[in-house]
Amino acid sequence: MEPMAMEAMKEVLKTGQELARRGLVAGTSGNCSARVPGSDLIVITPSSMEYELLLAEDMCVVNMDREKVEGRYDPSVEVIMHLAIYKAREDVGGIVHTHQKMASAVAVVGKGIPPILEEEVFALGGGIELAEYALPGTEDLARNAVEALGGRNACLLPHHGVVAVGPRIQDALLKAEIVERAAEIYIMASMIGSPQIVPFMQKDAK
Ligand SMILES: [Zn+2]
Repeated sequence: MEPMAMEAMKEVLKTGQELARRGLVAGTSGNCSARVPGSDLIVITPSSMEYELLLAEDMCVVNMDREKVEGRYDPSVEVIMHLAIYKAREDVGGIVHTHQKMASAVAVVGKGIPPILEEEVFALGGGIELAEYALPGTEDLARNAVEALGGRNACLLPHHGVVAVGPRIQDALLKAEIVERAAEIYIMASMIGSPQIVPFMQKDAK
């Protein structure tokens, strides 16, 4: 196997384990992936496996046509969404998909997170849009996630969770954490008043 692919497999495993350790997913849920630099391959976590029990070589390598190139397990069912994002966004080198609690709570009431924090706007490119609903693992969910992301770095999936992207998978993980902080602050702020849009975002705000 080429060294770049092995490196990406290690990074994807490490990030998957971090998702579980940081409480961004429960059990085997969520998934993450990275592009193999200089190729049309991506590495993604396998379907329904405990991250802590996996080895780097258990990660799946697939091409842009969703054909498995390497790995003994099946890729995550959300591989369709990951590939759709990589195809739509040349700038994206890594993706994490989580079931993080605070952001999911916002999505459950049918809201996105407006651009209320400078940190959120700088890291994510604006507010966090809520995608249209679609069932997990479907082409519809993939299309809806791409649309809600636009040129930004995160979106919410209704009744489901979060997708965060970045130039590297480590960036995507950090952005998922920023989404969680923004969601928590949005919920808390809503209890004591009306969360205000960051002033420099107000003219674009919906
Ligand atoms: Zn999910």
